[in-house]
Amino acid sequence: MSDPSHYPSPWVTGFRGRCPRCGEGRLYSGFLKVAERCPVCDLDLSKEDAGDGAVPFLILLIGGIGVGFGMIFLLGFDWPIWAVLAVTVPLITVLTLVSIPKAKGLLIALQFVNRAGDTGQNTFDEND
Ligand SMILES: [Zn+2]
Repeated sequence: MSDPSHYPSPWVTGFRGRCPRCGEGRLYSGFLKVAERCPVCDLDLSKEDAGDGAVPFLILLIGGIGVGFGMIFLLGFDWPIWAVLAVTVPLITVLTLVSIPKAKGLLIALQFVNRAGDTGQNTFDEND
């Protein structure tokens, strides 16, 4: 199982919130709390080390989207500022809440498939 081509796509498992090894077990036990072990293949998920790595990417992406829409509404359609904020703040909030678990799942899956770790060692032990 050390060949990464045997694992499901990290994009699919990460976005679905599934285990990076089997693609079936749930990755999270809460909104963003990673489960201790995969209930299907028993992979030790407590060793994941994605942390808050997905957040900077999302800040740049979603912030850009929100500011872009805000500028279009404010300058292009001459909306009052309260209307711009009434649309863009919920938009940014919803996009953030929807995308954080998916982006974190993607980073965990990429970490598993690429055998990445802080010390150059594989974070996930294959024998777990
Ligand atoms: Zn699994």
